[in-house]
Amino acid sequence: MLKLSQPVYDSLRRHGEETYPHECCGVLLGRFEDDGSRSVTRAVRAGNTRDDSPHNRYNIDPKELIRIQKEGRERGEDIVGFYHSHPDHPAQWSSTDLAEAHWFGCSYVITSVEKGRAAVTNAFELTGIEEDKKKFIDEQISIS
Ligand SMILES: [Zn+2]
Repeated sequence: MLKLSQPVYDSLRRHGEETYPHECCGVLLGRFEDDGSRSVTRAVRAGNTRDDSPHNRYNIDPKELIRIQKEGRERGEDIVGFYHSHPDHPAQWSSTDLAEAHWFGCSYVITSVEKGRAAVTNAFELTGIEEDKKKFIDEQISIS
């Protein structure tokens, strides 16, 4: 389960509306709970470095990711997930999303943005311990 506050949930959805018709992307900082759930304390916006096909690809600059990770650690936060948007496409992961996901045990949140308005937001947990056996499983989102 992925636990988000309403303001964090709203902000990652709004980000997808602001970058429409391009994809947005960002990092979810928080902590891993003992019961296996993830609690998000902050959604950090990241720039989409993919300028070849920004409407259906996203990539976070590794340098930016390291900076976000470092700032989180200083505040006692871990990277617990990532989010991006699907402009005019369903909030389901694509084969590219799976191929480019490498953070096992983290949540991948996808928001469909239809004609500029955030529609459905879904979360998927990346499970597995090896690259060739990894998969996404549906994850419940809890908003508090
Ligand atoms: Zn995607």
